Amino acid sequence: MSSIPPVRIAIVGAGPGGLTLARILQLSDIHATVDIYERDLSATYRQQGGSLDLHPESGQVAMKAAQLFDEFRKYARYEGEGMRILDKDAKVWLSVDGPLGPPPGEGEYGGRPEIDRTQLRDILLDSLKPSTIHWGHNLQSVIPVVTEGVNEYKLTFANEVQVIADVVIGADGAWSRVRTAIIPDKPVYTGVSFIDITIRNPPSTVSDLVGPGLLGIFAGSRSIIAQRNAKDIIRVYAALRESPDYLDERPELGQSLSSIEAEFKGWHTSLLDLIRAADQNSIIPRKIYATPIPLPYPPSNKAGSERQPSLSGITLLGDAAHTMSPFAGEGVNLAMADAADLAQSIVGALQPTPDLSDVEARVEFQQLISHALRIFDSKMEARASVKAEESARNLELAMAEDAPAGFVERLKAFRLADK
Ligand SMILES: Cc1cc2nc3c(=O)[nH]c(=O)nc-3n(C[C@H](O)[C@H](O)[C@H](O)COP(=O)(O)OP(=O)(O)OC[C@H]3O[C@@H](n4cnc5c(N)ncnc54)[C@H](O)[C@@H]3O)c2cc1C
Repeated sequence: MSSIPPVRIAIVGAGPGGLTLARILQLSDIHATVDIYERDLSATYRQQGGSLDLHPESGQVAMKAAQLFDEFRKYARYEGEGMRILDKDAKVWLSVDGPLGPPPGEGEYGGRPEIDRTQLRDILLDSLKPSTIHWGHNLQSVIPVVTEGVNEYKLTFANEVQVIADVVIGADGAWSRVRTAIIPDKPVYTGVSFIDITIRNPPSTVSDLVGPGLLGIFAGSRSIIAQRNAKDIIRVYAALRESPDYLDERPELGQSLSSIEAEFKGWHTSLLDLIRAADQNSIIPRKIYATPIPLPYPPSNKAGSERQPSLSGITLLGDAAHTMSPFAGEGVNLAMADAADLAQSIVGALQPTPDLSDVEARVEFQQLISHALRIFDSKMEARASVKAEESARNLELAMAEDAPAGFVERLKAFRLADK
């Protein structure tokens, strides 16, 4: 075996999708090198964001495939599934508790416990073999290099490093560079912008208002979504239904809590404490983007848009293929489910071990891996399309003129269906 060159698998992006994929591939006995190329300079380079709920049919399945479910359960906040929905007068429209008491035993509970994004990321990072991640590698381009009918891919990074790979996975998020090698399409503005703020050590009034899980306050073009995180932190999204230029034209919204509060005129004063209690230095404005529906990846979805044969060894997963608004809480779950499915497809195509020292065997391997990747593409697209529609519908209901009425009806129907 040692004389046979390993299949070189390059994953671009160390988000939840890329990390999960690398972990599951490394658990297998395939004869391959698995490398992640990540733009960030280190694991702690960037703040990772708030709490996530992992769903039993996707995120949790992936954690099990990664043999990290027990680790996940150590941090999972089961009570975090609780949810309250209010209107701007502080009237309660929906109040549901998450499971309280000690964490349920394995197999006792199929709900959606919360975990902080940093904790999830640390679990995944710690599970990888040393030197798997190449930090500070900002991908600029992926170019196919075809020799004697065999495809290889040249990845070029901003630090001038170049790498050759046999299989390339774009796990590089909404603005994926890998995707640009295959399709020109990009996510589009959803009509909603978020201002992300953080409350540390909240006063008891705010703490009680938010409860152990999620608090959503919906009132037409303005919403506030507050989510309990670990370590006595509450993460708050102030959502504004506005034009794409709204935040750019109002830089003060990225600088002062009082400017953000002014966006919520007429709201019950107790609700405005969610803004007043935040850390002034925590403000992050962001526009919310989503991939248009029908999803443009895989390219066979669109008439006249076929993948070039030389690009057959490339695929995408997670946000790179299907960015969606957070209104269905599906993004991380889909990215991780994609990773688990893709790992299975790749492992299947690499057994028995292809002899990459032989041109004929390489061509055969190329056909096998291409077939496996296209089956994965279809499965990913089918799953993500449903969730992309759901996210778009939730956004419309949550930010509708009659909110929270329609959104609450939908949540109730969803929770009943989920039982
Ligand atoms: C405000 C907000 C709240 C959200 N809340 C939730 C939620 O509650 N639940 C949920 O499930 N989802 C949520 N999401 C969505 C979720 O964050 C994403 O769907 C998820 O992170 C996608 O994972 P990923 O691995 O595909 O991509 P990402 O997490 O985007 O990771 C991509 C990685 O690729 C790297 N990268 C990018 N470009 C390059 C390059 N050129 N070269 C090298 N590396 C590169 C990035 O640095 C990053 O590390 C939310 C999103 C937002 C914006």
